Order: sequence, then C-alpha cells, then structure tokens
Amino acid sequence: MAIDPSLRTGAVLEIDLDAIVANWRALAARVAPARCAAVVKADAYGLGAAEVAPALDAAGCRLFFVATFDEAIALRRVLAKACEIAVLNGPVAGSAAEMAAFGFVPVLNDPGQIAEWRETAPCPAPAMLQIDTGMARLGLSAREFADLVEDPSLRAAIRWRGLISHLACSDEPAHPLNEQQRERFVAAHNGFCGTPKSLAASSGIFLGPAFHFDFVRPGAALYGVNPQPGMKNPMRPVVRLRARILQIREVEKGQPVGYGATHVTAEPGRLATVAVGYADGFLRSLSRRGCGFVGGERVPLLGRVSMDLAVFDISAVDPTLAQRGGFIELLGEDYRVDDAAADAGTIGYEILTALGPRYHRVYRGGPRRC
Ligand SMILES: *Cc1c(COP(=O)(O)O)cnc(C)c1O
Repeated sequence: MAIDPSLRTGAVLEIDLDAIVANWRALAARVAPARCAAVVKADAYGLGAAEVAPALDAAGCRLFFVATFDEAIALRRVLAKACEIAVLNGPVAGSAAEMAAFGFVPVLNDPGQIAEWRETAPCPAPAMLQIDTGMARLGLSAREFADLVEDPSLRAAIRWRGLISHLACSDEPAHPLNEQQRERFVAAHNGFCGTPKSLAASSGIFLGPAFHFDFVRPGAALYGVNPQPGMKNPMRPVVRLRARILQIREVEKGQPVGYGATHVTAEPGRLATVAVGYADGFLRSLSRRGCGFVGGERVPLLGRVSMDLAVFDISAVDPTLAQRGGFIELLGEDYRVDDAAADAGTIGYEILTALGPRYHRVYRGGPRRC
C-alpha cells in the first residue's frame, strides 16, 4: 500500500519554480538591453538544478553558470543544446581537454589555466576571462591582464565569450569599492573590445545600469534572497519548509527543554516537537533564536536544535491549528530565508545551500512535464 511519500519524511520543502522564473524575468526586464544569465551552482543554491535550470531554459535563459566541471556535466543532461554552460572555477589542472570535449565554456582565472586551455583545447575553443578588480579571490591581476592584452597571439587562440569580474561589496551600495571595481573593469575593457562584459551578480544589478554592461549573473535573487539587505525585498519568495509535528506536550513552569537544558519554561504552556534538525540543514545556530509559524502566528524555537528534532513553544496557537501530524512552517512568506539567516547569524545563501536531501521535495509550477 503506497502512502503519501511525505509521511515517510520529517519535513516538506516546497520549491516554487514559477516564482524563480518570475524573479528571473523581473531581473531580465530591469537590466534590458543587457542579457540575464542564471547562476545555478551548488545545485541551484540547494534547490535542485535539474528542476530549476529547465524552468529557466523554458523562460528564455540561454547562459548558465556552475562552479565545477561535475556540475556542468549534470546540467548538460537537463538543458537544451542551445544553452551555454559556463564553469566559474575553470578547469582544474589536467581537465582542460575533457572540458573542451564536452563543449563547456570555462571561466579562465589565471595564466596557468589560460595556457592549459590554449594548449589542450581544440583551437580556438570558447572561454570567458575573469579579472580581479578588488577582491583577491579568482581572476587575473591587473599585471597579468596587461601581459595578456599585449600578446595578440593569445587573444586569437581562444574564442572569448566574455570578460567578467566580481564585486566584493555590492550588497552595500555606499561602499567605495563598488565604484573602484567598476572603474578598473571599464579600464580593462579597452584591451578586450568586442567581447561581452559582465560585472554584476544579484546585488550588483541593483547598483544601477552603470553596473549592467552586456550581461548580468544573478544567483541568490532568483531564489528569493533579498539582493538589497535592509530594504524591502523585491524578489518573490521561492521556498516553503514545513516540519511535521511528532509530539505535543503540556508543560509546567520550570521545565528544562532540549540538550543542555539551555531553556527553562517561565510559565506553563504547550510545546511541539517537530521532525527537523541540523542533519537536515536546519542550522544548529538557530538554537534559542529561530522561530516558526503556525497559522500566521509566530512560535519561538526553544533550546537547542538536535540532529533530527527541534522544539517550539505553541502556547499562543489555537490547539486545533497545531496537532500531531500537522506542520510548523520554518521558511515561507512569514519567515523568509533572510529572516532565518539573521536569526542564525548567517546569510540567506547559507540557509538555502544547507537545505538537505532528507526533506521531501515538492516542485510547484515550471514547464509542463509529460
Ligand atoms: C556565485 C557567483 C555569482 C552569483 O552571485 P549571487 O550573489 O548569488 O547573485 C555570480 N558571479 C560569480 C563569479 C559568482 O561566483
């Protein structure tokens, strides 16, 4: 006898593909005539690249970024041929020939990667070039870039599909590094005319048209993370996470709750133990700080998050709304990814990428499947 598969798991993660597509369209409209790519690295920030990427493909996105070669191979299986797949980390030493055989577009970040791509890829293979304009992470230094530009044979040996750089502080619009990086990027242009340019990821898009260049590379904003922290979130929420209530108990004043007895009830009340824990990606740093929602009512998380369990104070909730077998909502419209991140002392990106494989996943909307 088959039962509803969500009854075999602790928590249900709903992912709204229509909201992701709507977010992509909103960003694409904001940056037009610049084009809008999609960053689907880390399994589309934990939401499932195999589901997310085809939905964006159907919406008209033609350029996808992943971080690693393996991610690119997985993505190739689910995307139409017309879509280009760029690999942000570029080829690891020894992998260039195979990466070229797959037809992926690596982002080349240092002179060694460039040399290897040139020597082993069939000539002239497509690639993007990343320059570092101020965050010392990936990309050619100004000196290395100047040397490259002076070597015309190298420019001709690779079919350059893009010149990119990445902003360090785009979520802080007033930070002076934004404009410094933009100026360094513009200066680098001159050596690379005719190649499409890209500087902005999610937050960079909101720094204005001067940061859009030829294409933009949003990730987080597609998935509902606020690209402008501290301001109203313009993106639609994408995820809803609900954990099943396993047990409800009435407690007296003075009842210790959870490991370490870090919470002791101050008055009599009602507690719900739900089937979610840090092994699911429900961060332990939410202990004593996070909350859930039941019927629009906030329910505080009490004590420490365990591996598979967490306890919420449901004293304020109408008992008919919170029963064994029912749910407490842990992410959704009332408590968004950024709210959970603030309580956990992290960023929305980490809340999303921590979402684990144990959740029962339900995809809403997206392209029609047969
Ligand atoms: C991850 C990444 C992006 C996407 O960043 P978001 O802030 O998620 O939009 C874009 N470009 C590069 C180089 C990245 O590493």
